Amino acid sequence: MYKIALDGPSGSGKSVMAKAVAKRLNILYVDTGALYRAIGLYMFRNDIDISDAEAVVAKLADIDLKISQTEEGQVVFLNGENVNGDIRLPEISMYASKVSAIPRVREFLLDIQRNTAKTNNVIMDGRDIGTVIFPDAEVKIFLFANDEVRAKRRYLELQEKGIATTYEEVLSDMQKRDENDRTRAVAPCLPAEDAVMLDNSSLNIDETMSAILGIINEKIK
Ligand code: C5P
Repeated sequence: MYKIALDGPSGSGKSVMAKAVAKRLNILYVDTGALYRAIGLYMFRNDIDISDAEAVVAKLADIDLKISQTEEGQVVFLNGENVNGDIRLPEISMYASKVSAIPRVREFLLDIQRNTAKTNNVIMDGRDIGTVIFPDAEVKIFLFANDEVRAKRRYLELQEKGIATTYEEVLSDMQKRDENDRTRAVAPCLPAEDAVMLDNSSLNIDETMSAILGIINEKIK
């Protein structure tokens, strides 16, 4: 059984790449951001003040989170409801980022993440997979790109989904979220010491894919 940790900031292309690699290698893909988004969504819907860590932690007991793998990929169930659509709303991104800085929230999500690798080879994308979730991962890649490139990708993605926003809004939200994710005390979004750094600012999807497959082939024989 092996684990591939794919970490990096938003818009670096982690999820597109992880999905494609999973398909190519016929292994499981786990999108961990979706779990933080589901917690953020719950707090949003219940009007919880997310700057109040105690209030957020008190609500965790009411949350039952499950992920299941279907033909269409990963589905997240929040108290039995499929929330794959709602967790992608732009306002939920900031909620996810804020709740993810709370240590008890991260602990709450530890097992659900680790359990996925017990019976499957897995590629997992997130912020702390190589540092916290699977420090023993066979492959660790930190994927990144410059802010403008990442914001443009995210903007196009939201446009395709018909979500109204502007490039400037996306860039500024992304920079705020990056700052939160990078500077938080627990599990900041930083590369593991033994991660391979991959800057894909000037690479297209195919080029990024072959760079990633090259790194994986080096590590997993
Ligand atoms: O990857 P995605 O943008 O969907 O993640 C949403 C938010 O969840 C991130 O901004 C980050 O704050 C948080 N997150 C995290 N650790 C992970 C995955 C996501 O803190 N492993």
